[in-house]
Parts: sequence; C-alpha cells; structure tokens
Amino acid sequence: MALTRYFIQHLHWPLMEKIKQNKTRWYIRDMKEMESLSTAQIAETQASRLADLLRHAVATVPAYQPWLAQQEAIGQDPIAFLQQFPILSKADFRQHHQRYLSTALSPATKLIPNRTGGSTGEPIRFYLDRYTVEHYEAARWYGLSWHEIEPGDPSIMVWGSPIELNQRQKRRYLWKERFLKNRLLLPAYELQRAKLDDYLRLLHSFKPAYLYGYASALHLLAELLLQSGRKPGIPLKAVVSTAETLLPHQRERIAEAFQAPVVNEYGARDGGILAYQCPAGGMHIFSQNCLLETVDPVSKQPVGPGQPGLLLVTDLHNYSMPRLRYQLGDIVKLSRDVCSCGRNLPLLEAIEGREDDMFVSTSGQFVHGHYFNHLMRNLDSFLSFQLIQHEPRRLSVKLVKHPEKYKQTEERQFIDGIRQSLGNDVEIALEYVAEIPPSASGKQRYAIRQFPIELSGNGASTPFPPAH
Ligand SMILES: [Zn+2]
Repeated sequence: MALTRYFIQHLHWPLMEKIKQNKTRWYIRDMKEMESLSTAQIAETQASRLADLLRHAVATVPAYQPWLAQQEAIGQDPIAFLQQFPILSKADFRQHHQRYLSTALSPATKLIPNRTGGSTGEPIRFYLDRYTVEHYEAARWYGLSWHEIEPGDPSIMVWGSPIELNQRQKRRYLWKERFLKNRLLLPAYELQRAKLDDYLRLLHSFKPAYLYGYASALHLLAELLLQSGRKPGIPLKAVVSTAETLLPHQRERIAEAFQAPVVNEYGARDGGILAYQCPAGGMHIFSQNCLLETVDPVSKQPVGPGQPGLLLVTDLHNYSMPRLRYQLGDIVKLSRDVCSCGRNLPLLEAIEGREDDMFVSTSGQFVHGHYFNHLMRNLDSFLSFQLIQHEPRRLSVKLVKHPEKYKQTEERQFIDGIRQSLGNDVEIALEYVAEIPPSASGKQRYAIRQFPIELSGNGASTPFPPAH
C-alpha cells in the first residue's frame, strides 16, 4: 500500500501533469491560499470569478444569450446580475440541455458525458470537461487535506458498483481504482452480516487511512460491527460520508463503530463538491468554486441565513456547459457564523436533505422526512420503514417488524406522530414487509413524496417542525 501511495504521489500525478496537463494539484493550492483570506476578500474573488463566468455565458451559451445586451451591468454587481436569471430546474435542464452547451468550445476541449444516478427520478445527462472535473477532484482533496488525508492514501470506498459498465470495463475500472487511486471497492448494496469477517479481514490487510461512502451504507456497516461487538482494530484518519444526508444518529453510530472522526462531504454529480466539514465541525462552502443561494420552495424568493431554502448552485468552473442558479434538489440553511477553525470560508448551517424527502401536511406546512426518522428512532419495534406520500391526504407506510421486539403500542405511537405532523385526516395504508429494497442507485430512501411541491400551494411561514 505504501508503495502504491508513493507511486501515485511521485510518479502518477507528476506524469499526469506533464503529459495530460492535469492541473489538479495547482487547483488544490489555489483553494488553500484562498481559505486564509478575509471574508470580504473571499467574497470579492468569488464575485470576480462569477463575473467571468457570466460574461462567457451570455456571449456563448444559447440559453443565456438573451441577456447579452445587458452585459455591461455584470461588472457593477455580478451577484445582482446573476439573480435576474430564472432558476434552472432539473426538468427544464433535462428538456433543453443542448441549449446550455457553450458554442465557443475550443477544438481541444474534450467533452465528458456524465449523468446523475436517477435515484429520485429520471437521470440528468450533461457534459463536463477536464477543467471542471479537475476542479471537482481538487475540491475533494482539498477538503480531505483538512483531515490529514493526501492523494494516494489507501481508502476503502463503500459504494454502488458501476452497473453501467460491462465486465471488461469493470475490471479496468477496479484496476484503476486499486492502483491509480489506492482504493478498494466494497459494494454498498451487498453488505451483510454473514460477510462481516471478510470485511474485517479486508480492513486489516489493506489498512485504509480512511473509509469513504454513502451515509446509509457506512451506517449499516457500523451497525453490523457494533451489534457483533467487534472492533475494526485499525486506526482511521476519518470516515467520510457523502452522497446522502448524514443524520445525527448515523454519525454517532459510525463514529462509535470505527472510533474515528466522521467527516461530511457535500456535493453532487451535477454540482461538484460544494462543501466539506472541517475538524472543528463547520461545514465550509467552497466559495472558490461555487456560489450558493437559497430560496423559498414555493415563492422562489431568496431566504436569509438560518432559514431553510431550496439550494441553487452556480458552478464557477464549468465553462463548457454553464448552469446558472441550478436547483440541485436539496434543502439547506446558509449561516452567518464564523467557524472556530480560523478558515474564513462561509458555512452551511444545515443540510436538511432532499427536497423530494419533504412532505406536505394537509394544512400546507412542510414536514421534512427526518421528522419521521426522528419519530422512529426510539422505537425498537421496527427494523426499517418507508413512507410514501402519494398526495397530501394519502400515505403508504411500509414497516419491517422486529421479530421479537414488535409492540402494537409503539406502532400506534408512530402512526399518531405521522398524523400529528401531516394532519389527523390523512389516509394511511399500512403494510408489513420483509425488507425495504434500496433504490436503483443503492441509496435507502425512507420518505418519498410523489407529487410536485408546487401543487401544495402554500408559502408556509414555518416550513419545518421545530428543531429536533
Ligand atoms: Zn472550520
């Protein structure tokens, strides 16, 4: 492993820089330099990067060319200029994605097709180029560097298998993972108690510096360990959770099982790495790379720090296919606080979760899916559950009963809690099932709303139940 690390750091990366002009390490340095600037200087650099992107977008991107005549105003206040653009929903982008491709790509630009996993709907197809991808990679290494993790450090990735690849491509992918990234793959949706010995053997022989994976998969692995009373027995620099909302109880259990700090990475395939948790616990926004806004889910008006809102992302380093104010599908809270770690990058106060996980009560209030998770937390009766809101008044509840600990009183408590939040008159179809299968991407979803939120038609002033 040490040899692979050496090879990656001293041969592979420098070679990629020489032959392919890869600039990832340069971008990591740029991000590091910017973190020690003052809050005002960071905002200034971010605004100047935004201005460059906006000038490029109105000049060369068909969807944004109607704003070309006003481009003089970009320099005065790029953020105000940005805010006059309509919010770009995934549905709009999916329908017109060719119109977001810049017409001024240099012949040397190689477009890299990509797509989202489609766990919450149809996949989004889009293009990236190397410049953008290298910024994403730099952002991840930069965030990891806060936890003493360097490129080439061995890791185990608890992840979905690349199902879109054929056998030969898969072998090549795994080879690259192993020898060019020093990374082993543990399939996220095949985790099972019977294989715990294998997982422990893998940990002991490979000695990863860190684990990296879906929050739910890391949590499941942690539960398997804790329930067996076994310890991983190797020191980990961190367990890095990504791709899903990391819930407080998951974080606790993962930290307990692996006896290591749990680090939250926040990003998306179609948005890049947007924020990273620092050792002091702050979720720092990577203002070097992106501009984040929050708006009310129904009125679409900006909401202030501390208020939950739909997240809009403008990726400052995507010049091939710029997307301005792209609605990623998450509900987050921005923050005014300053982190105790000394880095001046702004903070996210909370990542509430997917907009799709938000339920709507019969009186039009928003109730986040976490609420149901919270209700379930102290009940031993069930191994897992899933709520599906088909329409504001109609709900399906699937429950996996615990074979020994099931109690009817607890079930009633859970159903009462649902009614209290969503309305006493909601119709609930209860079903006992043997398991809740993960979605196609391997992610476990416990709360699914099946109608568009706009139909709820309420700009609710208190969109969330009190903090819990
Ligand atoms: Zn911090």
